[in-house]
Amino acid sequence: MFNKILIANRGEIAIRILRACKELGIKTVAVHSEIDSSLMHVKFADESVCIGPNSSSQSYLNISSILSAGEVTGADAIHPGVGFLSENAHFARMVSEHNITFIGPSADHLSMMGDKIIAKKTMQNLGIPVVNGSEGVLEDVEVALQQAEKIGYPVIIKAALGGGGKGMKVSNTPDELRLNIKLAKSEAKINFGSDAIYLEKYLVNPKHIEMQIICDDYGNVLFLGERECSIQRNNQKLMEESPSTVLNDEQRYYIGDILVKAFKQIGYSGVATVEFLYDNGQFFFMEVNPRLQVEHSVTEQTTGIDIVKEQIKIASGEELSIKQSNIKIRGHAIEFRINAEDSKTFMPCPGKIEELYFPGGNGIRIDSHIYRNYVVPQYYDSLLAKLIVYANTREECLNKALCALDELVIDGINTTTELHKKLIQENDIREGKFDIHWLEKNIGRL
Ligand code: ADP
Repeated sequence: MFNKILIANRGEIAIRILRACKELGIKTVAVHSEIDSSLMHVKFADESVCIGPNSSSQSYLNISSILSAGEVTGADAIHPGVGFLSENAHFARMVSEHNITFIGPSADHLSMMGDKIIAKKTMQNLGIPVVNGSEGVLEDVEVALQQAEKIGYPVIIKAALGGGGKGMKVSNTPDELRLNIKLAKSEAKINFGSDAIYLEKYLVNPKHIEMQIICDDYGNVLFLGERECSIQRNNQKLMEESPSTVLNDEQRYYIGDILVKAFKQIGYSGVATVEFLYDNGQFFFMEVNPRLQVEHSVTEQTTGIDIVKEQIKIASGEELSIKQSNIKIRGHAIEFRINAEDSKTFMPCPGKIEELYFPGGNGIRIDSHIYRNYVVPQYYDSLLAKLIVYANTREECLNKALCALDELVIDGINTTTELHKKLIQENDIREGKFDIHWLEKNIGRL
């Protein structure tokens, strides 16, 4: 097992990882930007190092600063958390070259999954159903137009190296496609450093359903069930739950079995989420997130498995002690992302938290880094807290969630709390009748 782990992240996920390390008896190093020196995980860690100014590019994305911090403190592993460098193959390679263990899959697997075109091809070859789309990178507008005719409109343009819901463009006609290709290429170049794009059939009313996988170095692969994340704004998740209201065990384990075989075959090690669109009873692969995800906590509640601790154990070379036959998916869990943002426009609302009260009680979990008088900086993600509610049934879970959201007080800044309260009282939400566009369509009225 590791002796000391450097946590290369901030906010709630940094505390989440810190807790897992402490429980495993591992020492911790927090790294932080200048403005983040008073974050709770920095206080709780055994050591801390300031890695640069406030902008992410100079701190949490600054590979040489993070590696220096690792060397100076003698850390034997780095946990990249979510976002930032968590999917960066170059970073993973650099970490290994410094004789530090990267807590995540191999750099080769990160490269494979980081290029969505390669990932899609690989998964398709392993028997996983994919969305109909273009063959490889699209260089030429005329070729793209021909491919779109074959696929059938509407089509969606995606960046091969894309992420965070950015840069996707839907086109309903050839004229729109012509225009959008130019825009998508330049946006992809600016955001992801490559203008490689591809086309996919745009599914009009799908659900977003993703599967949690854990693999060790010895060929053991576990499937921990699904999370439904259809409630999104700007292609980013706002509320996640498990199980999904639309899957039965037959469908769940049908796709789970295919995934287990596929991940065994590629010799993957670490945690992964495989994202699908689900439409008319069919799954369509979108991408693999080869890392921990914000919403992992939902699966922790329904399986009783501590995903972060397992991830750390696997990276240290331990064999998974759990067997698939021991995994029981029980009850219902929902995660509500409490973000510092306007609940109509979703624009970030940084500022000072004047008053704070967190709900509690049986089945209520809060993962958060905020405290009274904390000033939410403008530089980073707007996630303030994850409220994760667990109960025996979905209905009980929704009722419990309403009490918890009523109790939650975060004064001084705008948050998504009130929106969540309205959401869970909607008939469509209570009845599971929603797809990835539900929120966009209904936000004006809410
Ligand atoms: P990113 O990596 O940027 O998050 P994803 O490929 O995971 O991109 O897609 C993010 C979201 O965009 C999905 O959850 C879904 O809402 C929407 N989306 C992606 N592909 C399609 C598609 N083919 N049809 C309809 N919606 C899509």
